[in-house]
Amino acid sequence: MIFETNGAHIVDTLIMLAELVCFEQKCGARFPITEPIYNCPSCGVLLEVRFINGRLDPQQWKKTWRERRTSNSMLDQSGVWRYRELLPFDNHYDSVTSLREGNTPLLNAPRAAEYGGLDHLTFKHQGFNPTGSFKDNGMTCGVAQAARLGRKRVACVSTGNTSASMAAYSSAAGLDPIVFIPHGEIAYGKLAQALEYGARTLQVQANFDEILALVRLLADRLGIYLLNSINPFRIEGQKTSIVEMMDQRDWNPPDWIVLPGGNLGNTSAFGKALRELRDFGFIQKMPRLAVIQAEGSAPFYEYMQTRGEFRSTPNPRTLATAIRIGDPVSWPKALNEITVTNGVVEKVSEQEIADAKAVIGRCGIGCEPASAATLAGIRKLTNAGVMRAHDDVIAVLTGNVLKDPDYIYRYHTGQLKDPEGKLIQARYGNQPVTVPNDVDTITRMLEE
Ligand SMILES: *Cc1c(COP(=O)(O)O)cnc(C)c1O
Repeated sequence: MIFETNGAHIVDTLIMLAELVCFEQKCGARFPITEPIYNCPSCGVLLEVRFINGRLDPQQWKKTWRERRTSNSMLDQSGVWRYRELLPFDNHYDSVTSLREGNTPLLNAPRAAEYGGLDHLTFKHQGFNPTGSFKDNGMTCGVAQAARLGRKRVACVSTGNTSASMAAYSSAAGLDPIVFIPHGEIAYGKLAQALEYGARTLQVQANFDEILALVRLLADRLGIYLLNSINPFRIEGQKTSIVEMMDQRDWNPPDWIVLPGGNLGNTSAFGKALRELRDFGFIQKMPRLAVIQAEGSAPFYEYMQTRGEFRSTPNPRTLATAIRIGDPVSWPKALNEITVTNGVVEKVSEQEIADAKAVIGRCGIGCEPASAATLAGIRKLTNAGVMRAHDDVIAVLTGNVLKDPDYIYRYHTGQLKDPEGKLIQARYGNQPVTVPNDVDTITRMLEE
């Protein structure tokens, strides 16, 4: 498929210009791509990047993107910027800082497949990213936009992977990162990264939503660029997980793509990527998205049951802290993507997440708790007959196993308690054993 106008081939320097469009169709307000806004100034709804002259020649770009894998240039080595024709930078990449994000593997996991009731299961492990989560795919793009706008200070409200990623990318870019965290609620592995990567870290005595409101005021007053997932450029960067996945599969879409849902930014990004790849002719079939939430933090699941009014969960509870989000900002986008892909939303218990996580560990793969919701969800969906054993399924592992070692140790030693204080059974537990310093005893033990 070659795009032609007046009989002339469009050459490979074709640039797709982009703009910001209000996601609310009835509003449809449009803004220049360099406007430092996150929500529509007229109606308040989220913004989305849209390409104006959206045409790409699939054959040509599939080939070019593949060839870039052997290049030594920074942009080509990045698993995000390699696909830059699908990113809204109008062919200007001076503002890009890359830590060689993306480039995450597809891993075959027979044991996890069996546990999930599938013949085969592939994980795309976004925990292989520089700071250990998929947030890096989006953050390189968000930070490039901050630099393009000439902003020096960037900020986010986060106790988790967003702050780790923002700290790393903005420091690498020579910007000043500021992390706002709710007082007392801290995932230490992730906070440690934010400190190490040089983010000024402010603990505020307020909850997440109150702090977000505060930070928006500060952002206006001090010219700080916000990098929470309302930022449409993060969504753009996260699209490339899907583009890379299709590239790795020689453009054969799977039947299902399964991912955990918290703020639902990644769900929005995946759906947008699939729509664009379909519209540009890169793929002919739409995979179905399956979004998995934790039972104690499942406002999107509850909404999909009734399709009534969207109700947030005032006090979300789950040990999978990356998806402990009661009021997901991106739910209207996620709803659209679930509809377009004929997707499903499922919820899983703390016990189911913990067991699935240990099974993924036994595959030699490992992930953080939120990521394991995928396998737990697959098991439920195959049991319910929604997913079939021979379906071609890719589950996206969102974070690295070392993000939350405390959880792991407690699970394997039978000490892990859910947020209600109930003990989680160590069904796949692996206790360390104390032994005397004695060859014969240890020999006997190991031969048993
Ligand atoms: C951020 C995050 C999620 C949730 O993604 P959303 O885009 O908020 O739905 C899941 N897992 C991990 C490891 C994360 O860091």
